[in-house]
Amino acid sequence: MSWYKKLHWQIIIGLVLGLGYGVLAAGAGWGSFTSDWIAPLGTVFLNLLKLIAVPLILASLVVGVASLRDLSTLSRIGGKTFGLYLLTTTIALVIGLVLVNTLQPGRTVSEDTRTRLEQTYQDKVEMSEDMAASAKDRGPLQPVVDMVPTNFFDSASDNSNMLQVVFVAIFIGIGLLLIPREEAQPLLDVFESLNELVIRLVEVIMWMAPVGVFGLIADAITSIATDSPGDILGLLGALGFYAMTVVAGLGIMVCAVYPVFVTLFTPLSVGCYFRAVLPAQLVAFSTSSSGATLPVTMEVAEKNLGVSEEVASFVLPLGATINMDGTALYQSVAAVFIAQVLGIGLAVTQQLNIVLLAVLASVGAAAVPSAGTVMLVVILESIGVPSAGIALVWAADRPLDMLRTANNVTGDTMVASVVAASEGALTVPIDEGQLTMADVQGAADGSA
Ligand code: ASP
Repeated sequence: MSWYKKLHWQIIIGLVLGLGYGVLAAGAGWGSFTSDWIAPLGTVFLNLLKLIAVPLILASLVVGVASLRDLSTLSRIGGKTFGLYLLTTTIALVIGLVLVNTLQPGRTVSEDTRTRLEQTYQDKVEMSEDMAASAKDRGPLQPVVDMVPTNFFDSASDNSNMLQVVFVAIFIGIGLLLIPREEAQPLLDVFESLNELVIRLVEVIMWMAPVGVFGLIADAITSIATDSPGDILGLLGALGFYAMTVVAGLGIMVCAVYPVFVTLFTPLSVGCYFRAVLPAQLVAFSTSSSGATLPVTMEVAEKNLGVSEEVASFVLPLGATINMDGTALYQSVAAVFIAQVLGIGLAVTQQLNIVLLAVLASVGAAAVPSAGTVMLVVILESIGVPSAGIALVWAADRPLDMLRTANNVTGDTMVASVVAASEGALTVPIDEGQLTMADVQGAADGSA
C-alpha cells in the first residue's frame, strides 16, 4: 500500500502543514482569519473525540470486565496494571530529578529574565493558584472519595469526571459477573452493541484526523504568537535549557524505557510498536489531552498492537486518567528548576517528597491541557517553594504539554501491551492490523 494512504502519514502531513500555516499566519497577522476559519476544523475534531469518550469508556469497560471469567482474573489484571503504572511513573520521576539536578537549567536564567517572566505570567499564576487551592485543602483520601459519584448521570455529563465513569463501569461489570449469565446477557448485549457502535464511530472520526490536526496545530501556533507579548520568543529562548531538560527526559522515557519493557515483556519489535502507536501519539501531541485521545489510543491498541478488547478496555481508560509519566517527569523537572531560579536549595528529603507528591499529582491531574501545570502549584507549596514560581515555566507550557501528553499516551499503550502479553491476550500481527485510511474510509462508507 502507498505510504500516503496510511493514516499516520496523513496525520503527519496535517501536522506539518498546520505548523507551516501557523508560522505564516502569525507572521502575516492572519489571527482572526485563523480563529474564524481554521481553528473550527480542530475544534470539531476535538469535540467529536470528547463526545465519544464517555460512551466509549462505559461500553468498553463494562463489556471488558463482564467478559473476564471471574473476579480473580480482574484482580490479577488490575494488580499488574496498577503495579506497572506506579513503576513507570516512578522511573519517570527519577529520570526527571537526575537530569534537572545534573544539568541545573535554573542556573542559566538571569535575574532580569526572571522578573520579566514573573510580570508576564502574573494572571496565569493567580488562575492556577485558585484552581489548585481546592485540590490542596483536601484530605489524603479525598481522591478516593471523589472517584465514587453519588449520581452517575452527573459524572457522565462532565468529561472531567472520567475517573468516576471508570469506577461505575467497573462496578457494573463486576455486578454482571456476579449475577447468573442468562440474567446478565440482555444488558450485556446492549453494552456490546453500544461498544460496536462506538468503535465504528471512532473510525469515522479518525477519517477527519488529518484535517483536525491541521486545524489544532495551526490555531495553537497562531495563538501562541498572537496572545503572548512581543518578547515571547526571547522568553522562550531563556527557557530553552529548561525545556531541553524536560524534552531529554521525555525522550529517554519514550525512546529507551518503554522499548525495554516492550522488548522484554512482549513479542512485538520496537519498530512495530512505534509504527502501531504513532497515530495516537500524533493526536495526543495535537490535542494536549490524553482524555480526548483515548478513543484513538484504544483503536490503535486493539487494531494495530493486537491487544485484546478485554485488556485494552480495562487498562487504557484507567491509564488515560491516572497514568501520566510525562506529566510526572515534567513536574519534577519544573519544580526543581523553579527552586533553582529562585535560589532555594532543595534537600534530598524534599526531592523525595516531590516523587511522592508528583505520583499523586499525576493521578489527580485531569487528562486535559495544562492540568499538569495546575497541579504543579500543589507540589511547589508542599515543598516550600512559592507557587508564584510557575510564572517561570508558563511560556514553555504549551509545547511541553503537547510532548508530555504524547509520552503519557505512549506509556498507557506500553502497559496495555505488556499486560496483554502476560495474559496471552496479544494476538494480531502488527502488519495485518495496521490501521489504514482504507479501513477508516470503509468504516465511514459502512462497508468495512
Ligand atoms: N495534558 C496532559 C494530558 O492530558 C496532562 C498535563 O500534563 O497537563 O495527559
